[in-house]
Amino acid sequence: MKLDPEDIRTCTSIAAPLDVSKPVAPPVAQTSLFTFPTFEKLIEAFGDENGSQLYSRGRNPTVGVLESKLAQLERGEDCKVFASGMGAISAAFMGLLSAGDHVVFVNQIYGPTLQLADHLTEFGVTFDHIPGTDIAVVETALRSETKLIWMESPGTMTFNELDIRAICTLANERGILTGIDNTWATPLLQKPLTMGVDIVAHSCSKYIGGHSDVVAGALVSRKEIIEQIFYRAFLLNGAAIGPWDAWLILRGLRTLPNRLREHEESALEVINFLSSHPRVGAVYHPAANTGQKQLNQLAGYTGLLSFTIKGARFGEVCRFLNALRVFHIGVSWGGFESLALSPNKGHNEPDLAAASVPAGLIRISVGLEGAQILIDDLTQALEQV
Ligand SMILES: *Cc1c(COP(=O)(O)O)cnc(C)c1O
Repeated sequence: MKLDPEDIRTCTSIAAPLDVSKPVAPPVAQTSLFTFPTFEKLIEAFGDENGSQLYSRGRNPTVGVLESKLAQLERGEDCKVFASGMGAISAAFMGLLSAGDHVVFVNQIYGPTLQLADHLTEFGVTFDHIPGTDIAVVETALRSETKLIWMESPGTMTFNELDIRAICTLANERGILTGIDNTWATPLLQKPLTMGVDIVAHSCSKYIGGHSDVVAGALVSRKEIIEQIFYRAFLLNGAAIGPWDAWLILRGLRTLPNRLREHEESALEVINFLSSHPRVGAVYHPAANTGQKQLNQLAGYTGLLSFTIKGARFGEVCRFLNALRVFHIGVSWGGFESLALSPNKGHNEPDLAAASVPAGLIRISVGLEGAQILIDDLTQALEQV
């Protein structure tokens, strides 16, 4: 092969920075590493990898734009964005916990989070799960080794609200860290750090991204906590998000306020419809969970909710879901498209009964199609059960 050395230089040279002063969209810094004018400068950056652009497994400027926006929205000092929500949650646990530590999970918790806790018992981290919201019961679970209380509010599937401030008071008195999965509410509708929580986790794959085209996660906390997680877990676990995905989340964020208004409006109409439908039993959503104490934690509602079809077992659940025309059958939620599924997989009916989960439970994510279109779809599907 005979190549022109000039061509080789053109192919491999580092491009001069583009003139991108004041673009409305941030540039995608699609680079795995950053170079330094001298080796001494590189050594200096190694000494502060959390504060330096050195390698994109650590810091990347496009990801950094998203991190500073999420930190501001949660009223936190610092944020780290991850390749998934579970990447964020596992980094929080691995960054903050050591063998011998105990964790208390409170309220209905996202399934994989509890699976991860189960896995961590192999590394000497123990846990208890309090599935309800009774603070007195939480108190009985606390031990001298309890390092962290991890909560979800509203909780997964039944969307009960937990008294976040009361949990923080309990934890503060004992020097226990608190963390919350704030995915349901998004940082726009609930700001747990202002209520005393130490660490907030998000799956950005849901409302924050909002277009069902990215998987991402985030942690927001004080500087020293994010720094500890950065060195003890983030850099080593390597669940780094790529700059393109961060860019897509930034684009999603621009319409988050508008989308949330629409999700709330449609969800409230759908809840109204379901609550008065003769085939529907309970409806689970913070706006429908009447009888719960008013906690003044949420600034509004999102569109993920559950309901039961009266007397339904697996057969009826399948008939209902398969009859839907506008709602798609699928996991995840928080996107533009309405989705439906059930925790009832047929073979697990005895497990559901043991956990007091109704056999006819349906979870829906109310999308942006408009309430009437969704209500018409639910009406015709309920008729076919
Ligand atoms: C989806 C989800 C997660 C996990 O997020 P991924 O981005 O899928 O890893 C965590 N918590 C809740 C409440 C979720 O809905």
